Amino acid sequence: MSTARTLLLAGNWKMNLDHLEAISTVQKLAWALRDAKVDLTAVDVVVLPPFTDIRSVQTLVQGDKLWLRYGAQDVSRHEPGAHTGEIAATFLSRLGCTYVVVGHSERRADNHETNDVVAAKVKAALGHDLVPILCVGESLDQREDGTHVEFTLAQLEESLAGLSAEDLTGLVIAYEPVWAIGTGKTATAEDAAEMAAAIRGWLREIYGDSLAESTRILYGGSVKTDNVADILVSDDVDGALVGGASLSGPDFAALCKAAVGQ
Ligand code: PEP
Repeated sequence: MSTARTLLLAGNWKMNLDHLEAISTVQKLAWALRDAKVDLTAVDVVVLPPFTDIRSVQTLVQGDKLWLRYGAQDVSRHEPGAHTGEIAATFLSRLGCTYVVVGHSERRADNHETNDVVAAKVKAALGHDLVPILCVGESLDQREDGTHVEFTLAQLEESLAGLSAEDLTGLVIAYEPVWAIGTGKTATAEDAAEMAAAIRGWLREIYGDSLAESTRILYGGSVKTDNVADILVSDDVDGALVGGASLSGPDFAALCKAAVGQ
């Protein structure tokens, strides 16, 4: 379905929608995308439900041959074994997941995930053919004191420690300023463009042109139908990680339609 840097719109449901609600949400999303004639060859539309929904989503997507991808919101850094409560990358692969979010700011805050842990999760995902959507981004204080670029690039560097350009083929990076997540405050299109360009420049410097040119960089933080087109104007912004606005099938489909400019 994807070529390098195909527009990617990934709906992070967070801890919302149980497995029955997941089925109806994905059905409504698929119908609304079809009714709106969204060109699904021009965009990867992805849902990222809670773990307990994934089997139901898999059954629906495969059974109805839906042109959608799905994934998880987190993954264990460990291989299967004695790690109570963890979910291994291999289990997600076997459920047909394509993507997994790693290092979301809510997990960094709620579960004290350090950059070391995040790097180990990126590695675990890549080792099992999952595409990590690695989240980075600054707090409001860092934005206000002007250290946002420096902070975000340092977080990125530490979250990719020990991984080579070859390892990172297919990686997706989501720039998510913490102050814009779930707050209704969106970074301006210029803010998103500035950081996406800085991230791509950093990738070029550290890993070379090929990885820099092929890595998709998303913006996340209060993206909605009415602001997505502006956010995507920059050539360096390849899509969006969408929280609240992905919880309704028809709303997420409308956002996808606005994003592809139809
Ligand atoms: C997110 O969950 O990553 C996110 C960006 O949420 P929201 O769109 O609700 O701000």
